[in-house]
Amino acid sequence: MADTADIVVVGGGVHGASTAWHLAKRGAGKIVLIEKDGIASGASGWSSAIVRMHYTLESLVKVTMYGREMYGDWKNIVGVGESGFRQVGFLVLFPDGEIKHGQEVVKMQQRLGIDARYITVDEVGDIEPRLLRDDVAAGAWEPNSGHADGSTVANSFIAAARELGVDVRVGPEVLTLVSEGSKVTGVDTSEGFISAGTVVIEAGFRTSALLAPHGVDLPITPVRHAIAVVERTPDFGDIHPVVSDRVARAYYRPERDNLAFLGEHDPMRGPIDEEVEAAKPPILDEEISLLERFVHRFPSQELASKMRGYTGVYDCSPDFQPAFGKVQALDGLFVGAGFSGHGFKLSPGIGKIMSDLVVDGSTDMIDVHPFRIERFAEGDLLAAGEGYNRSLS
Ligand SMILES: Cc1cc2nc3c(=O)[nH]c(=O)nc-3n(C[C@H](O)[C@H](O)[C@H](O)COP(=O)(O)OP(=O)(O)OC[C@H]3O[C@@H](n4cnc5c(N)ncnc54)[C@H](O)[C@@H]3O)c2cc1C
Repeated sequence: MADTADIVVVGGGVHGASTAWHLAKRGAGKIVLIEKDGIASGASGWSSAIVRMHYTLESLVKVTMYGREMYGDWKNIVGVGESGFRQVGFLVLFPDGEIKHGQEVVKMQQRLGIDARYITVDEVGDIEPRLLRDDVAAGAWEPNSGHADGSTVANSFIAAARELGVDVRVGPEVLTLVSEGSKVTGVDTSEGFISAGTVVIEAGFRTSALLAPHGVDLPITPVRHAIAVVERTPDFGDIHPVVSDRVARAYYRPERDNLAFLGEHDPMRGPIDEEVEAAKPPILDEEISLLERFVHRFPSQELASKMRGYTGVYDCSPDFQPAFGKVQALDGLFVGAGFSGHGFKLSPGIGKIMSDLVVDGSTDMIDVHPFRIERFAEGDLLAAGEGYNRSLS
C-alpha cells in the first residue's frame, strides 16, 4: 500500500516537534514526522535551553514572548508533558561599549510589554551580590526569564502531537526530497517513499544537504560548542539567575540546586565539525577557559568542582539568524534551520509561524520576509548578525 501523508516534517528536535504539534492543532491533515536517530538527539538534547527575550530584532522578541508564555504555562497550553521551565531570571552584564545598545533593546522590550529593566552596577549587585562587578558598566534584568529543558520540551511536543494523531516515526532517515517540476511530491526514506504535497524540513545542519540537489543554497556551518559543568561550593547559597556575561563573553546557567552550566558567547568559537551526531567531550582548554571566566565573575567559586562537560553543535548561518518559511524554488517546501545556537527559545513561536505559513500561507505574528532562506543567495543578510546579538545564547 502506498505510504502517503498530507505533510511530512523532517527532524525530531524542538523545531520539528513544535511544528508538528502546531500543525496538528490546526487540523492540517495527515502528518508524518520522521526522525532518524532519536527525539532531541541533535542540538535540542544538548541545549542550555536559556529562555530570554533580549533580542536586537523586534520580530524575534515577539517570537520569544510567545515561547515564554508557552514554557511558563505548558500544562494549560500544550497539556501533555512539561517544559522544565524555571523562572530564575536573566541578567545581562554589559561592557562600556554596549550600554547604548542595551538601553535601546530594553526600551523596545518595555514597549512590547515585557518586564525588562536597564540597571546600574549597584542594582546588579542588589540582584546578585556574589558577582564581581568591577569591570561591568551596567546590566539588564528580566525577572520572568530563566531556562527550560530541550529534551523535555521536544519529547513533550512529540507526545502531545501523537495524541493529536501525528504519526511519529523514529529510525528512518530521509535520504532525498522528491519533486516533479517545481512541486514537492514527497520524500525518499531508508524505509521507502512517502508521498506528500507538503514537506517541512527542520533537520538542523543536515537541512542543507537535503536542499542542495534542488539547487537551493542554505549555507550552514556546524560549530561544536563546549559546555563546562561545575558543582558550586556548598556555601554558595541560593541558585543564581542565568547570567549573560557580555564582558567575559560567556554565560552561566544554573542546573538543579548545585550545578552550573558554562557556555561560550561567540557562536563561531569552537571547532567546525560535520559529525554533528557524535557525542564528544569538550577540549580541555575550552573547559578551563569557561571555568576561569566563571570564577572571575563569581570569586567565591575558586574551589568549585569541575564535573564532566559535554558538547553540542550550533547550525550557524552567515548572519547568525535563523532561516525559515516557504522556499520559493519549490511549491510545497518549507524550511526552518540555521538557528545559530539560539533556537531553543524560538521553537514554540517558530512552530506556530510554520503552521500558519503551511495552512494559511501567511502569519500575523511577525513579518517573515527578512528571515527567508533566499536572503543568503541575494546577499541581503540580517543586520543583527554583526556584533551584539551575534553573541547571545
Ligand atoms: C550546547 C548548546 C547550547 C545551546 N543553548 C541554547 C540556549 O541556551 N538557548 C537557546 O535558545 N538555544 C540554545 N541552543 C540552540 C538550540 O538548542 C537549537 O537552536 C535548537 O535545539 C535547534 O533545534 P532543531 O530542531 O532545529 O535542530 P536539532 O535539535 O538538531 O534537530 C534536528 C533533528 O533532525 C534529525 N535529522 C537530521 N537529518 C535527518 C534526516 N535526513 N532524516 C531524518 N531526521 C534527520 C536529527 O537527527 C535531529 O534530531 C544551544 C545549542 C547547543 C548545541
